[in-house]
Amino acid sequence: SSFAHFGFDEQLMHQIRKSEYTQPTPIQCQHQDVGLESPSFQGVPVALSGRDMIGIAKTGSGKTAAFIWPMLIHIMDQKELEPGDGPIAVIVCPTRELCQQIHSECKRFGKAYNLRSVAVYGGGSMWEQAKALQEGAEIVVCTPGRLIDHVKKKATNLQRVTYLVFDEADRMFDMGFALLFSATFRKKIEKLARDILIDPIRVVQ
Ligand code: AMP
Repeated sequence: SSFAHFGFDEQLMHQIRKSEYTQPTPIQCQHQDVGLESPSFQGVPVALSGRDMIGIAKTGSGKTAAFIWPMLIHIMDQKELEPGDGPIAVIVCPTRELCQQIHSECKRFGKAYNLRSVAVYGGGSMWEQAKALQEGAEIVVCTPGRLIDHVKKKATNLQRVTYLVFDEADRMFDMGFALLFSATFRKKIEKLARDILIDPIRVVQ
């Protein structure tokens, strides 16, 4: 499989080449092994199609890029349609470390189109984050509570959001480790996914 399948433009391919990735990882796309008829491995094409998606993959699988690249393309389409100041994409994640990590990948690939990313998480300076939000960013990477704080204080608004990612959704429930593998827990996640996603495609690695 190769990056050519995605049809990315030269600006984005340039950033990908700079990262020295030679081919997509399985969660991003795996044409050769499973064939085109199997949608279950193709995170990037599914996200590019605009369908809702549930991705199941381990850390280190390349899952972050799998939602960031289609996100950038979506933002570029959307920016023209709806000018404004709030973010177009919001990535919600459970921890400050993950927030910073995803934010740095957003900045790296967002360079392709001069897109701005802001990270807002608990424990960081409320004032500095609010200032960055007010300066404007197409991408906000956040922990849930802190995003809500900023919206309440009107440092930003979510009116333009049309690309929403819950990264490590299972960890977001903060129910304690013992519950993580219980049937109740899995049922809760399944129910949440059923409630908020529309006819999602599952992408499993
Ligand atoms: P993640 O699963 O998002 O935590 O990604 C793990 C690591 O894989 C990160 O350091 C990425 O920079 C890297 N990565 C993402 N996509 C690729 C790829 N296609 N080829 C090689 N490395 C990649």
